[in-house]
Amino acid sequence: MLNWREADFTSYTSTVALSAEEEEQRQKEAMQTARKLVAELGGQLGHTPTCCVVTFGCQMNARDSEKILGILMDAGYQESDSEEADFVIYNTCTVRDNANQRVYGRLGHLNSMKKKNPQKRIALCGCMIQEPDVIEKIRTSYRFVDLLFGTHNLYKFPELLCTMLQNDRMVIDVWKATDAIVEDLPVVRKYPFKSGVNIMFGCDNYCTYCIVPYVRGRERSRSSKEILQEVERLAKDGVVEVMLLGQNVNSYGNGIEGEISFPELLKEVEQVEGIRRIRFMTSHPKDLSDELIAVMRDSEKICRHLHLPVQSGSSEVLRKMNRRYTREQYLELVAKLRREIPDLSITTDIIVGFPGETKEDLEQTITLVKEVGYDNAFTFIYSPRTGTPAASYEKTMSDDEISQGFERLLTVVQDKARESVSRLYGRVEEALVEEVNSHDAALVTGRLSNNVLVHFPGDASMIGKFYPVKLTENRGFYYIGEMV
Ligand code: SF4
Repeated sequence: MLNWREADFTSYTSTVALSAEEEEQRQKEAMQTARKLVAELGGQLGHTPTCCVVTFGCQMNARDSEKILGILMDAGYQESDSEEADFVIYNTCTVRDNANQRVYGRLGHLNSMKKKNPQKRIALCGCMIQEPDVIEKIRTSYRFVDLLFGTHNLYKFPELLCTMLQNDRMVIDVWKATDAIVEDLPVVRKYPFKSGVNIMFGCDNYCTYCIVPYVRGRERSRSSKEILQEVERLAKDGVVEVMLLGQNVNSYGNGIEGEISFPELLKEVEQVEGIRRIRFMTSHPKDLSDELIAVMRDSEKICRHLHLPVQSGSSEVLRKMNRRYTREQYLELVAKLRREIPDLSITTDIIVGFPGETKEDLEQTITLVKEVGYDNAFTFIYSPRTGTPAASYEKTMSDDEISQGFERLLTVVQDKARESVSRLYGRVEEALVEEVNSHDAALVTGRLSNNVLVHFPGDASMIGKFYPVKLTENRGFYYIGEMV
């Protein structure tokens, strides 16, 4: 049975005792109970109970939120955008210390709402909840929270939902790790025509600034058979674009006897009828193989976009970050990619102000950005993350030097991004329409294979379909176009 009691912290070192099939069955049974409980709650409230899932952080969290919402809607909740909802879930991120502070701040606001609506329920899940000191803080200072669960037992959400609805005490179920991958649960997709597909969980890389390996656990790949079945189901359901998700997709299948590699998986996904575009993220440069480059080059469906986080242009800083490649190796990789796939758009992540970084190191990052000519880069000023090795490293540059360097880097990134977008001017490209433009209802917004957005005349009936669009007006980072 569930391990819970008031302010109880259930921590396992490894997996569930049941097999994945038994767990799936158990959660399906819990779903039936959840439906009854939500219907009863609706009777008490006098309306269909509403739920609001708030996502912080990355694509993996966004995908987890779709699963949470799927379960809630299947149980009978109605989705709401407002945190006034009867059940609010924060799916948290803990990559930066200030992300935690933001969540604590917002919780105070939820508490005031709960005072007015005592039936309101509040849950917290995601990476932040994997940290014991966070659980302790919530147990002691945020007693109004009803449910806490972590990243390893998300699939148990139907069961935890029932326990929460049947009790007035705080339910806490957080595991340190798991081997279990239980997937066959309801999902509500944000877009009917595109979907994320988890291919692996966790990370073994231990970059010195990153908390992910500690909160998401060791790397675990799903079986290719299950992934392909999920992609086939999605295609039957009308999905035309899939994004294969993992912290380091290039090491997919490592350590699993007889499992196929990531490039082989891509080839298999390519065979699925109905899927017209394939994206993936994130790629660690150290694991990006020649085989993958060849598969991308020869594919009709793999999008012409690669997110390849560099983090720094200095080999010395990369060593301190434990990235396991040098500036030269990274540049060689980019040169190979450009040679083999000339129209590939490359984006990246960069950290400025890492402990030990000097002005000369930062200069090397700036020259690397110029040399690669990224289509876009997500730039961050380093902030120490408690619990990671780098949190104890000593800072070298002053705050002023960091922010001046950051501004210079940003200017170079933006100039290069504009330059690369401008090369598309006048071309006809296929766009997948994602939505009606939020500023001008006479326009729709479409995404090109290389991830650039184009706005062109259209209406809601075009959402989820492909159109050839001439890129007629360059607006810096995006285009205005017309259908041809
Ligand atoms: S590869 Fe490095 S930065 Fe990415 S999740 Fe793993 S440890 Fe974190």
